[in-house]
Amino acid sequence: MLTDTARQPKPGRERRAAERWRQELIGAIRQPEELLRRLDLPESLLAPAEQAARTFPMRVPVPYLARIRPGDPNDPLLRQVLPIGAELETHPGYTADPLAEQGARTGSGVLQKYNGRSLLIATGGCAIHCRYCFRRCFPYNREAGWRTALDQLEQHGAPEEVILSGGDPLLLDDQALGACLERLGRIAAVRRVRIHTRLPVVIPSRVTAALARHLGQIRLQSVIVVHANHPREIDAEVSSALARLRNVCSTVLNQTVLLRGVNDDTATLASLSERLFAADVLPYYLHLLDPVAGAAHFDVDAKTGQRLWAELARSLPGYLVPRLAREEPGAAAKTVITPDAP
Ligand SMILES: *Cc1c(COP(=O)(O)O)cnc(C)c1O
Ligand code: SF4
Repeated sequence: MLTDTARQPKPGRERRAAERWRQELIGAIRQPEELLRRLDLPESLLAPAEQAARTFPMRVPVPYLARIRPGDPNDPLLRQVLPIGAELETHPGYTADPLAEQGARTGSGVLQKYNGRSLLIATGGCAIHCRYCFRRCFPYNREAGWRTALDQLEQHGAPEEVILSGGDPLLLDDQALGACLERLGRIAAVRRVRIHTRLPVVIPSRVTAALARHLGQIRLQSVIVVHANHPREIDAEVSSALARLRNVCSTVLNQTVLLRGVNDDTATLASLSERLFAADVLPYYLHLLDPVAGAAHFDVDAKTGQRLWAELARSLPGYLVPRLAREEPGAAAKTVITPDAP
């Protein structure tokens, strides 16, 4: 719960907090040359990185960079953000639009993909560019924006749950988010708001006091789903950002993408669950990779996924075992994959 002092806006301090995350966002490393230099990595990685970055630009915020182990080309955090030559290969089954979402996009900023939940595309951008993401082919910058999307929900009816998605909805500033949440709160049918975001993990200073206040004040129940793939992504600053969210939200969950060379072993996944729980966050989904062109080198096949999941289920309490799932094009929900009986 918010204390009384936290309830009082402190303009000077709030402005500085807003400036800090904005600076960290703007100051993200975008040149492969600089990334390699700062991490003491071999020059031989430069040419393929520059070539692959032409398709999907590199973007690495400095707070995330600080958690990458220098001098290790195989670091699991580095692997998520460094463009490599393998991205340029083509593989059968890996396409630009693996979820066939382009058809579902009307340009209005609302995606009616799941029953009882509306997905509102709040912004097109992201603070970090994850090399395995299906967004690598569609940065979604053409969506109308949250105001138009809200107009549509107000006029055509809204479901119980509205999901703010993107891009990353926490790229909106606190004022815009506050206004968006307030408008959602006035739509009688809406009971829950859910925010899918990677920002608290990659730029933890984004979880400002003003953001917490907006979330704490609304009538709606709020669910935050963050996205971390490796236990080392959760350092002390991230843990306190997650705790700040936990204080004001109904639930904070995490989703992970199962990625070859990043988290495709039981020990890493178990340690991620433990680290999340220590920050009061529950593991929600463990996604199989969407087969997007340029990400085939991250693929972990479903059989291996099932084996890892079964090992995880044997070593952790049930509430620390995420659901193994994949998205099927056109499906009204995620497909949860049950492990084969041993
Ligand atoms: C899966 C997913 C959803 C909605 O599905 P739930 O099963 O209700 O969690 C919404 N947004 C994103 C980004 C998702 O991956
Ligand atoms: S949508 Fe999520 S996974 Fe994709 S690039 Fe943005 S932050 Fe990364």
